[in-house]
Amino acid sequence: MQSHNSTARSYFCSQELLNRAQNVLAGGVSSEFRKFSTPHPLFYERASGARLWDVDGNEYLDFTLSQGPLILGHSHPQVLKAVTTASQNGQLFAGQHLQELELAETLQRLIPGAELMRFSLSGSECDHAALRLARAATGRDKFVRFEGHYHGWFDNVAYGVTGPSVEALGDRENPTLHPWTQGLPDRIGDEMIVLPWNDLELLEKVVSERHQEIAAIITEPVMCNNGCIPPQPGFLEGIRALCDKYGLVFILDEVITGFRLGLGGAQEFFGVTPDLGIFGKAMASGYPIAVLCGKKTFGADNRPLMQMIADGQVIHAGTMNSCNPCVAAALATIEVLEGENVHPRLFELGQAFMEGLRTAARETGHDDFLVQGLGPMFNVQWTPLSEVRDYRDTLAGDKAKLGRFITLMAERGVRVIGRGLFYLSAAHTSADIQAGIAAARAVLEQMKSESSASISTREAALPQQDETADVLTPGAASLEARREVAI
Ligand code: PMP
Repeated sequence: MQSHNSTARSYFCSQELLNRAQNVLAGGVSSEFRKFSTPHPLFYERASGARLWDVDGNEYLDFTLSQGPLILGHSHPQVLKAVTTASQNGQLFAGQHLQELELAETLQRLIPGAELMRFSLSGSECDHAALRLARAATGRDKFVRFEGHYHGWFDNVAYGVTGPSVEALGDRENPTLHPWTQGLPDRIGDEMIVLPWNDLELLEKVVSERHQEIAAIITEPVMCNNGCIPPQPGFLEGIRALCDKYGLVFILDEVITGFRLGLGGAQEFFGVTPDLGIFGKAMASGYPIAVLCGKKTFGADNRPLMQMIADGQVIHAGTMNSCNPCVAAALATIEVLEGENVHPRLFELGQAFMEGLRTAARETGHDDFLVQGLGPMFNVQWTPLSEVRDYRDTLAGDKAKLGRFITLMAERGVRVIGRGLFYLSAAHTSADIQAGIAAARAVLEQMKSESSASISTREAALPQQDETADVLTPGAASLEARREVAI
């Protein structure tokens, strides 16, 4: 195994393959976020447990976990076995199968608000279905979403994801909307009311004034797509109360928190049950499956909700939905998570990791290094703030320093998500955490010895800038904002 010392790594083979890929894959990748790797998009060959290897033979201690799904680590034998067996019995029936039913029953048992559900392939699809359902159930068009949250890449949620600066975001009560991409119809921005997160007073004011237009409030329970920001005490409860009071649908987007904070997701962890929940990522160890689950009926007058899908009034569909290998992967993942009581250990390791990073930062003179999160996932950043509470706060962070940190960690064989997010898995050991802390300490020392002037101009802080700058919409989010956002 390569140590986590800084060694001159070669990326020659990856570079060659990337050159080839750019002739056939747009930008050389299959998802926009993969462009923003350091030193450039890499090609990987294999992965096992907490580690993966690129085509140049470089080894990485992996805290990205493929952007979250690999909660058991890479290539878990029980998952692989289940997938193989299920595939051997057929791949897709365009019909029902027993394992699909068993998975649904398992989710119903584990997730507080999961009375009825439907499977899809991705979180984006389930978010889309949830908003359609909320509109149908309430007869209203708009929804409230929060700045910096990510609910997939579809049109109707492609505003409010980023913003270049606090000034450009404007008034807190009526923020300026910044499109995340070109190609959005003009009217799409009218579908949503975007607000800063974690501000219950503001939310109450806006909802009390405009509730007759609003179908739903959608939120990540922990704001993981920019920072790793827990809800302020009472915030989720406040959303629940507002939705009850005004007959809105409460949608909790658990694509990241689901199966990561616990088997019942954030709704169990925080004790707040939404009307609709969306789970994906960590549910199936990297196989494409997501679920929209929620109440049959909602509100004081028990209006139909998931029941509208059951009755065919609201359409949800998909050729590949609940295909055999994906369902088997989910069942096996949940069985291991439940059988081995993984979550307490993830919290313990995560807390130790966060504490170790704080100590390393203090001892190397990085007084503005902030570690925030819950343990199974957490975020690091350089900021003058002692607490980051919403997207606007994240804009105070020093992105150049963070970019340098991520680059230097990768050079030491520690892979961290570019926006400073760490994920832990059942495959990580205490020794891995200590190795992560030791690498971070060395990186922090190195950064201290580099002049801050050279850091701010260093090319490595903004990989691929030239390549992607041309896709920015004039007036849209900056490259920095785009690269740090959700995955
Ligand atoms: N919601 C949240 C909170 C997410 O983090 C993501 C993906 N990062 C999505 C939705 C979209 O999920 P997918 O990439 O599976 O479409």
